[in-house]
Amino acid sequence: MKHSMFRNYLYKKEIYEEWTMGGEKSAKRAANRLLRKQRMEEEAEAARILQEKKDQKYMRAALKQAQKAASIGEVPIGCVIVYRDQIIGRGYNRRNTDKSTLSHAEITAIRKASKKLQDWRLEECTLYVTLEPCQMCAGAIVQARVERVVMGCMNLKAGCGGSVLNILEMQEFNHQVKVTRGVLEEECSKILSDFFKQLRLHNKVEKYMNN
Ligand SMILES: [Zn+2]
Repeated sequence: MKHSMFRNYLYKKEIYEEWTMGGEKSAKRAANRLLRKQRMEEEAEAARILQEKKDQKYMRAALKQAQKAASIGEVPIGCVIVYRDQIIGRGYNRRNTDKSTLSHAEITAIRKASKKLQDWRLEECTLYVTLEPCQMCAGAIVQARVERVVMGCMNLKAGCGGSVLNILEMQEFNHQVKVTRGVLEEECSKILSDFFKQLRLHNKVEKYMNN
């Protein structure tokens, strides 16, 4: 039985019971109460679907950043920060290009967003990143008081948003981040595996040419 059909059946049963026990007025009150409840559930569901669509839209923007990294031969990881439905910071991995361990996608996006808001605090901001953040970036996210993090795929061997550690949601710190995992997970994972496949092929060709 579909969830909504089952719910309607329960509602009717409850109204019928009210009728037999308390008469028509009582049944009407129960019906109104149940209608209100149903409307609230529908509104919550609509809000959830809208949020899901928004999350996918901004994750696509983060994937675009990841593509930029791939195009300069960097491991494709991308990030965007959203404030009141507007992207206020973008970043992609440039670790080798910049020769800097600080050039992770999230750090760049945080720096740009802070500059835009003229505040080191990124309250009310949502950070979208294609790969689960490392310990440095998860730490910076907590330090910046980012309200919510949405991640694409997980990084089982190095991630600090739930895999190795969960720095984002540690109760011991003064700030906890709301976390959503697995948004456009397949695309986020594929861009990485395609990159490494390409890299292996490139290395093989190089080795062959040198012999
Ligand atoms: Zn990082």
